[in-house]
Amino acid sequence: MKALVYHGPGKKSWEEKAKPVIEQPTDVIVQITRTTICGTDLHILKGDVPEVTDGRTLGHEGVGIVEEAGNAVTCFKKGDRVIISCITSCGKCDYCKRGMYSHCEQGGWILGHLIDGTQAEYVRIPHADNSLYPIPAGSDEEALVMLSDILPTGFECGVLNGKVQPGNTVVIVGSGPIGLASLLTSQFYAPAEIIMVDPDDNRLEMAKLFGATQVINNSREDTKKRVLELTHGRGADTVIEAVGIPATFELCQALVGPGGIIANIGVHGKSAELHLETLWARNITITTRLVDTVTTAMLLKTIQSKKLNAKQLITHTFDLHDIISAYDTFEHAAREKALKVILTHH
Ligand SMILES: [Zn+2]
Ligand SMILES: [Zn+2]
Repeated sequence: MKALVYHGPGKKSWEEKAKPVIEQPTDVIVQITRTTICGTDLHILKGDVPEVTDGRTLGHEGVGIVEEAGNAVTCFKKGDRVIISCITSCGKCDYCKRGMYSHCEQGGWILGHLIDGTQAEYVRIPHADNSLYPIPAGSDEEALVMLSDILPTGFECGVLNGKVQPGNTVVIVGSGPIGLASLLTSQFYAPAEIIMVDPDDNRLEMAKLFGATQVINNSREDTKKRVLELTHGRGADTVIEAVGIPATFELCQALVGPGGIIANIGVHGKSAELHLETLWARNITITTRLVDTVTTAMLLKTIQSKKLNAKQLITHTFDLHDIISAYDTFEHAAREKALKVILTHH
């Protein structure tokens, strides 16, 4: 089969690789029908995630068809259509019992990281009963790829950790796919204001279409001044960091109001300064989280009922065999006006 293989920082290739086989009775082999590229894959390719080794197939998102199920798998059988969660979880360990699937002792984020991932014709999914979700008949499967990672991540790490409330002011720093996923799912709670911050005007236009009440281009506007104006000098109740660089994390600290929450989502490769000299007396909370994917089934219901339009996050579609071009488009997201790119395989 073909797979997108990482060969150290800056190096990847679409190459022939052995088809995965069942290794444990709880495994399933999934034939990929749709996958996508994540900002996290770009971090890996930059060398920000050093535990990813030469020869690893990338990708942790996708949907597909069960090709083969191990003897101990009870929920899935050959031919079933499934959503692959970016988080693999046994459902039995101490962390899983606490709903912290992201830290599962036998899983967590391993796909396209510590084991071969979904940017391939086939993938092995360990602990399949707890790590796959059945696709309801008649679903739009492209939209459901957004459930592998970005919708639960934007919702759990941003909206739930950020305790978005009716009438509150939310600032989201970063209007890429993850920031936009937070923007869409924060509207479950009816905040009064959702202010999106990004240096790309096109992404800010998308944010307005997705429900932002205000947008700030931080490449030419004084973001702190604008947020203070918009909040009558108070700052925001919830500030969601959806970029993952020191400058944006420090910006969040300047935007949060007394009693507010900074909910970090970004994958950080470098340390950022913590301004305790201004924050120590402001009653703020800072949260970090790796997505647990405990809300995937709930989010699926909101997509099925059309309460949540996940498809608007998709801007480009490629054949899986053209994944190198898809990476080029996704790496030049501003130039290409790209959000999520879908790779299709039949
Ligand atoms: Zn991802
Ligand atoms: Zn577990």
